[in-house]
Amino acid sequence: MPKSPGEASHLILRVAIAVPLYRLFDYLTPNAVDANHLAPGIRLEVPFGTGKKIAYLIEISQHSEVSPDKLKPIERILDDKPLLSAKDIRLLHWASRYYHHPLGEVFSAAFPASLRKGKASSLQLPELAYILTDAGMATPAEELKRSPKQQQALAHFQRHHPASLSETELAQWDKNWRPAVKALLAKTLLKQIASENPYIPQHTVENALATTLPTKETTCDDASNLQLNAEQQAAIAAVVDSLGKFAVFLLEGVTGSGKTEVYMQIIRSVLERGQQVLVLVPEINLTPQLEERFRQRFSVVLALSHSNLTDKQRHSAWLNMQQGTSAILLGTRSALFTPLKKPGLIILDEEHDASFKQQEGFRFSARDVAIMRGKLLNIPVLLGSATPSLESLHNANQQRYQHLVLSQRAGNAVEPSLHLLDIRNKKLQHGLSETLVNELRSVLANGEQVLIFLNRRGFAPTLICHGCGWVARCRHCDANMVIHNYENLLRCHHCGREQRLLPTCPACKVGELMPLGLGTERVEEALRELFPEKALVRLDRDTTQRKGSLERYLTQINNGEADIILGTQMLAKGHHFPNVTLVAIVDVDSGLFSIDYHATERLAQMITQVSGRAGRAEKPGKVILQTRHPDHTLLNTLIREGYSHFAQIALAERKEAALPPFSYHALLRAQAGNPNLPLTFLQAAAALAKTYKAGHTQILGPVSAPMEKRAGLYRYQLLFQSNKRSDLQLCLTELIANIDDITHAKKIRWSLDVDPVDLF
Ligand code: ADP
Ligand code: ZN
Ligand code: ZN
Repeated sequence: MPKSPGEASHLILRVAIAVPLYRLFDYLTPNAVDANHLAPGIRLEVPFGTGKKIAYLIEISQHSEVSPDKLKPIERILDDKPLLSAKDIRLLHWASRYYHHPLGEVFSAAFPASLRKGKASSLQLPELAYILTDAGMATPAEELKRSPKQQQALAHFQRHHPASLSETELAQWDKNWRPAVKALLAKTLLKQIASENPYIPQHTVENALATTLPTKETTCDDASNLQLNAEQQAAIAAVVDSLGKFAVFLLEGVTGSGKTEVYMQIIRSVLERGQQVLVLVPEINLTPQLEERFRQRFSVVLALSHSNLTDKQRHSAWLNMQQGTSAILLGTRSALFTPLKKPGLIILDEEHDASFKQQEGFRFSARDVAIMRGKLLNIPVLLGSATPSLESLHNANQQRYQHLVLSQRAGNAVEPSLHLLDIRNKKLQHGLSETLVNELRSVLANGEQVLIFLNRRGFAPTLICHGCGWVARCRHCDANMVIHNYENLLRCHHCGREQRLLPTCPACKVGELMPLGLGTERVEEALRELFPEKALVRLDRDTTQRKGSLERYLTQINNGEADIILGTQMLAKGHHFPNVTLVAIVDVDSGLFSIDYHATERLAQMITQVSGRAGRAEKPGKVILQTRHPDHTLLNTLIREGYSHFAQIALAERKEAALPPFSYHALLRAQAGNPNLPLTFLQAAAALAKTYKAGHTQILGPVSAPMEKRAGLYRYQLLFQSNKRSDLQLCLTELIANIDDITHAKKIRWSLDVDPVDLF
């Protein structure tokens, strides 16, 4: 039926679609729909190419540049109102402009996979949960010893009291939980919580707080009895005072100084206001312990969002926060955009961690976007770290962030002492010097734990022929194949290529093949030989691949069933090993001479973080760093004067060299199988960008990437540097607008990285 002009259905729906194109797409409204009722942000299904795609409504317009007879109507409307708030939608627009990333892909990053694929946004009824009755609290579990299952279940509830346990949590504890819980319900030792139970305390403070928040008497973790020190109190007061308005806080506290305790006390205040908290952590390895502490402290519903969960679990975490049925979300980088019904606070723990920066696709920094989100939502953002990033310290120096410091370890714990061990001309046994071995021996003889850090997996990073010097290289990368003895493999750590370990040299056919350099497997072998009677746990990506294995190892360590803990950077992150009294860093030198200016900052953070694992309880810890550069200035500053001092010196050096945070960087990367294409593309991009009037933006390169060939592709990069953020942005905006016209743009893969955290 022909439509008369001016009819509502002639309005154009302008949508963003998750495709790598810098443009929006226009559609018609179906006849029966009044477009004026459609709000920006809702999801639509639209015909696209030969199929269908999910689209996000951006605006409703009177006009389209495409003639109306070429436009197609949308297929269906998925949401009756937007799932994101207007402010969060503004955040996505901002992020798309700031990172020069297509809006559709930015929108898509804000949704969990299920919703991105068009799943309905209805939330299943909150699942049932169970909690102890007074009788259940008072009954000793041993009384049920005639039914071991029920006894275990009761003990399990008592351990978690006053928290309730949901069906999912019970299923994680024991697949066959139902019969025991049923029996305990029948004995009125447990009760079921009605699903409409308010999980977030409502506006009125008197309402139900006593039941949803733990009181002093019922807190399992008896932290409310902790005597907070003056610095902790000051930090808590500063953040609590600014609840309800935007401010950024940098909480710098040495490991073990009670940062988590500070977070939890602040979170309590936010919950009391009836608001939600978003807690971001760098990697999921960190969360088992943190999650456990949160669960013990708060009886509100905790949502989790990270890559180890199923789509379904992330879907419900997202919607529970959006609808206000969960009060706290603990998640990784991608959880940043989760909508909050009543936003109160954003916390980023270990804010210095590079994994807050997404390294592919939409290359956003969860830290920087979190701060913009806090600003738009008008809530405080709390960044915490023992080793803050130079950027954040700079912002604190400039008074843009409020600097809160916890300078001492909490309780009676003392900070470890650091020592450089000169290994020049010393005999090494698989990388371990005699002095170090003796230190290990005496600590182990005392029945204490040692932690040994080496940031390289595998047996050895190089396989070399003793006869002719041949080295096993990866065919697809500028890299050596790493020896993995246990699996009898050579593996490339850059592209994943594998081959069987060779019996003889493929070049000379006679020479003996030898491992060169150190990996954790090799150090493990040496330690097992040296200390055969001691229990050793190795933690690296190879040993913790299987689900649950990391948790198992951590339990083993915490139960004192491991004397020697050996591992990679996994050890530097968040875990508490209270009985470790000696930390050995086998090789600090490999981090000293990188061409990337971020490397020294990373190394200092890593050394400080690993050291922080030692002596967290009552026993003092000692840290030994093996080096061939005992006079290195950085190492000495760090060891004698600590991370803060190091950081101020490193900042002074950055200022001298006009490097970030004293200037702004963006990196245009390009790669292809034929090296000429990306190189020509970047040369043309550089020439074009130089014609823009973008103030003082310098264009450096193109140069080859530090690893020129990777997974069969040749990689080059162009660096943009400016003293003024706005100049840099102008230049990038113009460049991106014209980039498709640059020679070879269609034949290569390129990406733009604003504020890159590494130059590789
Ligand atoms: P961080 O997060 O800085 O590493 P935590 O908050 O985990 O530090 O605190 C380290 C340990 O010290 C924890 O066991 C915590 O319960 C304890 N703790 C925190 N604050 C205090 C305090 N004021 N007095 C005594 N112990 C404390
Ligand atoms: Zn050979
Ligand atoms: Zn490779």
